[in-house]
Amino acid sequence: MIDFTNTKIAFHLKTDSELERAYFLFKMISNQPLVKIGTLATNFALRTNLPVEGLIRSTVFDHFCGGVSSKDCVAKIDQLFKSKVHSILDYSVEGKQNESQFEFITKKTIDLIDFAVNNKSIPFAVFKPTAIGRFEIYRKISKREKLEGFEFDEWNQIKKRFNRIFKHAQKCNIPVLVDAEESWIQTAVDELLFELMKKYNKTKAIIYNTLQAYRWDRYDYLVKLLEKAKSEKLIIGIKLVRGAYMEKERARAKDIGYKSPICETKFETDRNFDNCLTFMTDNLDYFQLYIGTHNEKSTLHAINILNSKGISNTNSKIWFGQLFGMSDHISFNLADHHYNVSKYLPFGPVKDVLPYLIRRAEENTSVSGQTNRELELIKSERKRRGV
Ligand SMILES: Cc1cc2nc3c(=O)[nH]c(=O)nc-3n(C[C@H](O)[C@H](O)[C@H](O)COP(=O)(O)OP(=O)(O)OC[C@H]3O[C@@H](n4cnc5c(N)ncnc54)[C@H](O)[C@@H]3O)c2cc1C
Repeated sequence: MIDFTNTKIAFHLKTDSELERAYFLFKMISNQPLVKIGTLATNFALRTNLPVEGLIRSTVFDHFCGGVSSKDCVAKIDQLFKSKVHSILDYSVEGKQNESQFEFITKKTIDLIDFAVNNKSIPFAVFKPTAIGRFEIYRKISKREKLEGFEFDEWNQIKKRFNRIFKHAQKCNIPVLVDAEESWIQTAVDELLFELMKKYNKTKAIIYNTLQAYRWDRYDYLVKLLEKAKSEKLIIGIKLVRGAYMEKERARAKDIGYKSPICETKFETDRNFDNCLTFMTDNLDYFQLYIGTHNEKSTLHAINILNSKGISNTNSKIWFGQLFGMSDHISFNLADHHYNVSKYLPFGPVKDVLPYLIRRAEENTSVSGQTNRELELIKSERKRRGV
């Protein structure tokens, strides 16, 4: 049986000083007031061009990111792959909403697909819908609001960009994960991806949509999706996650006055996650699954299902994923047992990757269980090494 407390395997790539840095970092981000002040101070310092980039780079950035460019990431990719952990290069620049940036990211994603073709260690490409199209356009389409004038053209451009990426991905046989963001733009993404799956997912999943299990409506959505997949005779690729925008979702629902799309308790999110997982593994003729989680129980639940169904650890329809810098005890122990496992490896200019880093810090603060778990594991590894 897999043992996630095996810290020797979990941290074998970390030197003593890297282990110390990780300890220091998780200790800092377990302190909520400190993260709040740190976030404000960092944003201010970067806006006013104070020289803090070096400090960010040598702390959070180096821990959670692969580097500034894809080339910078190569050493980390190779190191992970020696331990059978794959990498997914994630160009994590967020919040730039203009046409030239959307074109730039589209080309970048296509380049990253080419990069993956020549690297066995990179099994997927990934992008965010709002990295290649304006948030407001997705929102309007999702809300069935009428587009105006030039917005029609913007929507057409968005559809073309999705098509260009998937066409290239299919040619290169590299599947693409499409991240999920706020629920109020997701309907547009879900509908567009389903249309494109009819074209690109006929025999295997080139397109993976993301399902956020913290949304209470997602199980029913999945059941309907299966019916549609059966009638269209296609394979649905799904990346299953819990969801990273909980506070924002709840705050918006409260402000505007609609029922929050998020499960009321963590228990309900966990149950929804496990139910969605079971449902998809029960229907593997129609689903290919990427399980993105740092939750040990969910990972064990998945392993138990695979074992009980006699599905091989190496079955290419099932992948596990964690974020770089988090939950190495899950990634390396899974790889040690020959499961397909990968790390999202974010990269990009330090300043532009900041929203991603802030989300990681806030997530680790709000999910105190996760941070404590990381700290406990690091502590026991320090003890094992006698440092
Ligand atoms: C490889 C990978 C890819 C990812 N891609 C995406 C993506 O495309 N889109 C995205 O949104 N997120 C994404 N995430 C982040 C993910 O959604 C989670 O935020 C993160 O992984 C923490 O959840 P967990 O399953 O690891 O486990 P846990 O730490 O057990 O769960 C924490 C999560 O549970 C939920 N939760 C916590 N408290 C409550 C509560 N009181 N009520 C209801 N629910 C609660 C929240 O979703 C919270 O993030 C990704 C994560 C990974 C590892």
